[in-house]
Amino acid sequence: MPLTGIEIFKLLPKTNCGECEVPTCLAFAMNLAAGKAELSACPYVSEEARAQLEEASAPPIRPVTIGVGDRALKVGGETVMFRHEKRFENPPGFAILITDTMEESEVDARLEGCKLQYERVGLTLRPELVAVRDDSGNAKKFEAVVSKVKQNSDCGIILMSSNPDVLAAGLKVCTDRKPLIYAATGDNLDRMAELAKENSCPVAVKASNLEELAQLTTKLTEAGVKDIVLDSGSRTLRQAFEDQVFIRSAALNKKFRPLGFPTIVLPCEMTDNPMKEAVIASIFVAKYGGIIVLSDFQGHSLFPLLVERLNIYTDPQRPLATTEGIYEIGGPDENSPVLLTSNFSLTYFIVSGEIEASKVPSYLLVKDTEGLSVMTAWAAGKFVADAIAPFVKKCGISDKVKHHKLVIPGYAAAESGGLEEKLPGWEIQIGPREGAHIPAYLKAWTP
Ligand code: SF4
Repeated sequence: MPLTGIEIFKLLPKTNCGECEVPTCLAFAMNLAAGKAELSACPYVSEEARAQLEEASAPPIRPVTIGVGDRALKVGGETVMFRHEKRFENPPGFAILITDTMEESEVDARLEGCKLQYERVGLTLRPELVAVRDDSGNAKKFEAVVSKVKQNSDCGIILMSSNPDVLAAGLKVCTDRKPLIYAATGDNLDRMAELAKENSCPVAVKASNLEELAQLTTKLTEAGVKDIVLDSGSRTLRQAFEDQVFIRSAALNKKFRPLGFPTIVLPCEMTDNPMKEAVIASIFVAKYGGIIVLSDFQGHSLFPLLVERLNIYTDPQRPLATTEGIYEIGGPDENSPVLLTSNFSLTYFIVSGEIEASKVPSYLLVKDTEGLSVMTAWAAGKFVADAIAPFVKKCGISDKVKHHKLVIPGYAAAESGGLEEKLPGWEIQIGPREGAHIPAYLKAWTP
C-alpha cells in the first residue's frame, strides 16, 4: 500500500535543506504522497528508505514501455478515472494483427498499412505496433514472420503465442526491439517469467477472470517481473468494457497493486465486422485500453481512431494550439494576399481550409494567442495591435511580399487603426468575420 505523507516524512533526512525545491522535508513528503514530486529530487535519502519510498511514489498504474528509440510506446502511468480531473497521460497504442499462417502478400499488405500516417495540428498521427500471432504452432514459421516484420517495419512488436518455445524463437530475432510477449497464463507462467527476465521484455498476462488475473500478476511480480500488461480474457464488448473500468478503478481508487498495470484489448477477436471492430476500438480509446489490437489498418477507420485518441489525450486545461509563424498555402508569391489569425487550432484549420478551398495562394500569419480563438484572444488583450504589430515585424513577411497589405479577421476590426499606427507603411484590410466567406473575399482581392 502507498505510504501517507507523514509516513514518508519519517523516512526523509529532515534537514530541510531545500534542494528539492520546496523549503521543508515535510512539504516534499506531502508532494510525494500526492504524486506531485519525484523521489529523485532529494539527493540525501538513504538506500533503505529509497526502497520503501519508491513504492509510495510509484504511479498507481505502472508505466510500461514497448519498443525502443523514437518508436517506443509508453502505456499506463494513468492517475485519474476521468479526463477532466487532470488529464490522461499515455495514449493507447494501436496494433495490427499479422499471423504466421497468412499468405506472404497479405503480410506485405498489412505491413504497408502500418505506414499510414496523418498530419494534424502539427503532429504526426500514426499507429505504433504490429502483433504477430502464432497460429501454426511452428516455431520456425513464427520466427520467419517475426523476422520479416522486424525488417520491414520500425513499429513496436507484440509476440503472441501460448507456447513459450514459439515465443522464444520469435524473441531470438527481435529481442533488441523490446517486444511485448503475450501471454502468460496459469499454464505457462514460470517459463514466461523466465523469458521476460532473460530478454528484459514486458509480458502480458491473460486470465479468464479478474480474480485469476490478480493472482497471476502477483506471482509474476514475486518472480521479479515488473513490466506487466493485463488481458482480462473477455471477448464480449460488455464484459471487456466492465473489466476495463473495474481494473482502472481498483488500481486508482483502491490502490490495488495486482491490477495496477496497463491493459491490452483485442477488438479483432470480438467481431468479424470491420466497422463494428472500429467502433469497439473507439470505446476502448475512451475507456481505458492501453494497447488496442485491430485485425487491419484501413485509412477510413484508422484515421478517426487516431483523431479520437488525439482529442482524448490532450490536456483539457490547455487548448490545442498551432505554432506561431507564416504558413504558405497553395504556393504563394510576392503578390499573394497576407491574412492573419490566432493560433487556436480549430481556428487555424478552418481558416487554412477555406484559403485552400479558395484556390488563391496566400500567406497565413498565425499569431500565438496561447491557443485562444480570435474573439477570446482579442477580449483577453492577446490579439490587439500592441501584440500583433511586433509579431508582424519580426516574422519576416515583409521580405516575402511586394505589397504591404494585411488582412485581419473581421472580429478584430477594432484593431485596424492601432495596427496602421504601429505598422507604418502597412495597409490594414478588414477580412470576413466568418471563415466560410474567405473564398469569395480572396477571389475578389487584388494586391
Ligand atoms: S532535498 Fe531532501 S533533505 Fe533536503 S529538504 Fe528536500 S527532502 Fe529534505
